[in-house]
Amino acid sequence: MSHSNRQSVLVLGGSRGIGAAIVRRFAGDGAQVTFTYASSAAPALELAKETGSTALQLDSADRQALTSAIEGLGAIDVLVINAGIFVAGDPLELDADAIDKLFTININAPYHAAVSAARQMPDGGRIILIGSTNADRVPMQGMAAYGASKAALSGMVKGLARDFGARGITVNVVQPGPTDTDMNPADGPLNELMHSFMAIKRHASSDEIAGMVAWLAGSEAGLVTGAALTIDGGFGA
Ligand code: NDP
Repeated sequence: MSHSNRQSVLVLGGSRGIGAAIVRRFAGDGAQVTFTYASSAAPALELAKETGSTALQLDSADRQALTSAIEGLGAIDVLVINAGIFVAGDPLELDADAIDKLFTININAPYHAAVSAARQMPDGGRIILIGSTNADRVPMQGMAAYGASKAALSGMVKGLARDFGARGITVNVVQPGPTDTDMNPADGPLNELMHSFMAIKRHASSDEIAGMVAWLAGSEAGLVTGAALTIDGGFGA
């Protein structure tokens, strides 16, 4: 670990939903946490105050800003790349720029962020991406681009696991199923349909996803690398 015996953790996209639960979990476990957000300044500052963490306004779509901010933070023990967007609809109607933006935030940013963090990451560090069960199963219309963006991450972690393995750095993707957040509220209109694909028919809480992330960041998971860990109530089963 870096500077002190406190684990230093950077969460990209930590102001709301799953990312905020990950910030709370690591801060509660005693880590020194920095997190980014794009536009939700009020919840970000509130969360920073509540957890004693540091909020950074940083749009993952801006590669230059992203990589220089990460390099400026110095040695990070754990990088969690949670920032992601969801765009869905008839591919014949969807705006091409919106799809390119989705690919930029969901695929390009994780790659560049992981590489930037790895430059200064201590041996035994952890890189954890938040993918989706839609990497493996897309049982609804209108989700081709989102599914593609999340499927890209499983190839990415396999490759980066090989690249950084000699330093004991693990690289994995956590693939949630429906999780109760602003992106996918547990009382939303498609819930019955989504639950019909699941063995255990309920949304996850963000805390359940954060628990898997915390386990991957811990010493017991030192040999788990290049893996996709799915937590989806059997959505993809
Ligand atoms: P939310 O939309 O509720 O929250 C997204 C978070 O990411 C916010 O903190 C947001 O910041 C941040 N963010 C988004 N875009 C950017 C950006 N360009 N730069 C920096 N931060 C950004 O999403 P969820 O919590 O539901 O999802 C988190 C991750 O989990 C995503 O990658 C999503 O694809 C994935 N996921 C979610 C599932 C679900 O059912 N909820 C299921 C499977 C995967 P700000 O507040 O400033 O907008």
